[in-house]
Amino acid sequence: MKRGLYRGRAVVLNSLDYGESDRILTFCTLEHGKLRGIAKGARRSRKRFVGNLDPLSHIDLIFFHNDGSDLVRVEDAKLADAFAPLKADIESLADSCYLLELTSEMTREGQSLPAVYHLLVEFLKMLEAKSIGQEALRFFEIRLLAITGYLPHLGGCVSCREKTDGQRIYFSSERGGLVCRRCSSGLIGLIPLSPGTAGLLSMAARLDGEKLKRLKPGQAFLDESERLLYDFIKFQIGKELKTRRFMIKLKSAWA
Ligand SMILES: [Zn+2]
Repeated sequence: MKRGLYRGRAVVLNSLDYGESDRILTFCTLEHGKLRGIAKGARRSRKRFVGNLDPLSHIDLIFFHNDGSDLVRVEDAKLADAFAPLKADIESLADSCYLLELTSEMTREGQSLPAVYHLLVEFLKMLEAKSIGQEALRFFEIRLLAITGYLPHLGGCVSCREKTDGQRIYFSSERGGLVCRRCSSGLIGLIPLSPGTAGLLSMAARLDGEKLKRLKPGQAFLDESERLLYDFIKFQIGKELKTRRFMIKLKSAWA
């Protein structure tokens, strides 16, 4: 990015208080990928930014980029959509914040990926409209992995490349895909998987939100894909997401 003033659509991924009156923000932008910026005086001049810089806010962002600085300077942020219904319900909020954190962890600054921005906005809208069920998070995960180039190998055994149709299969995060029974011996950390779940994940990785909404996976898919994707994502980013721990606590408290 050249030095200068820019404008564009963005979703606020994260917001941290900084010093007496500033905020450090992370954005997922349409044109510039993930961006980190500073909003000077954001905590003092409430009028200037109001709630526009809270996580989840979908905004029209104006920022200044200076050569040699990691942080852009936030000049203005106009709210396009606050996603207020998502913020009003604790479970929806937890789910949405998980999407924000995952997006932030799976993308690098300076890497322009408009598809990630579109995916995030599309899923936040579906969560807001409640037009998709519990499978939303799994579909988001697999789509995000596909877009960012981390999709595991789901079309046959990752070791011998044989088709795995109908036979007992496993998933290995370390190997990055499905492993057939023959190739599984001696491997640790394998996750047993039904061929149906593998097939549906492989298909979901290529579909847009409209088509994903029409898939109605059963409980076996939800359980298996959650375990698999949790394990694989943790392996890829090297840690557990904070929002996921929160989500689990929340759901177990209410179960
Ligand atoms: Zn094999």
